[in-house]
Amino acid sequence: MLAYLVLNEPDSAIARAVNAITDGRIRIRQADADKIICLHGNGNAVSGLTDMVAAERDAVRHQTLRLGDMASSAAAASEAFTADLNAEADMLSADTVNTVQILARMIERSRRAEHDLKAAADRVEALRQELDAARGDAERDQLTGLANRRGIERRLRTLADDGRDCAIGLCDVDHFKSINDRFGHVVGDRVLMQIGSVLAAACAPHLVGRWGGEEFLIVLEDRTEHEGIKVLDRARADLVSHDFKVRETNEPIGRVSFSAGVAVAQGDYEDRIAAIRKADVILYRAKAAGRNCVFGS
Ligand code: GH3
Ligand code: MG
Ligand code: MG
Repeated sequence: MLAYLVLNEPDSAIARAVNAITDGRIRIRQADADKIICLHGNGNAVSGLTDMVAAERDAVRHQTLRLGDMASSAAAASEAFTADLNAEADMLSADTVNTVQILARMIERSRRAEHDLKAAADRVEALRQELDAARGDAERDQLTGLANRRGIERRLRTLADDGRDCAIGLCDVDHFKSINDRFGHVVGDRVLMQIGSVLAAACAPHLVGRWGGEEFLIVLEDRTEHEGIKVLDRARADLVSHDFKVRETNEPIGRVSFSAGVAVAQGDYEDRIAAIRKADVILYRAKAAGRNCVFGS
């Protein structure tokens, strides 16, 4: 009743008394309410109120109960919500812990997998290197360290596959037999090694290989016959200017030269091999022409 009066007659003495106590927030006790009505209530107000309240009481109570119910529901809902939140929070923290554990396991597994993968990659790399080394050995000449016939053929096959033209220079050391005859095969071997080095340096970056015996073959990628002749002739000049000596005695071995034939190699692998035969024919023309020279077709 007091609340009704306060709300409906905010300027009344009763309302001011209530407000003085409550200051808008503090709950007023029933004893205070009775005292206020006793002190400030007059007959009219109270009787009028009584009439009205009599008519409205149930409705107010009903509204109050409804509000109470609503509050209870809200509280229950809030409680439930809070409980849910807590549960969620618990779950969240539990999940977080789980997530952390799961993540830790995943990271560990990932690390292990990475480690295993790296170990596997290392093994593959080691195998590849061994394979390369084995293939390198198989394609390398033991004496000079240059590509052997098989290595040269592989390069020609690759060039044929790639459709890249090249010039082929076939060199044969002039009068090499006389070196062996004069200084022995051991010195002859050393001379061959040095010839290989001189040729490789002079023809770089082109592939220089030992075709066999005292024959060397140069694969001049993307070079015309004319360009090939130039490269080979420069190499020939380098070799001729090289001062060969017997290591032990310092005895001069004399001038070492080669004769060479140059031919362009195009088309498929068989065409490239045919170009070598052609270079060989040209080489013997160079021999016939007096040696120490480079011929083209
Ligand atoms: P030409 O100018 O006509 O080519 O004369 P040449 O003496 O070089 O030709 P020939 O074919 O008569 O002799 C080649 C010599 O090369 C014979 C062979 O013993 C020698 N020879 C081939 N391979 C090797 C090798 O690996 N080591 C040594 N020391 N000699 C080799
Ligand atoms: Mg020969
Ligand atoms: Mg020879």
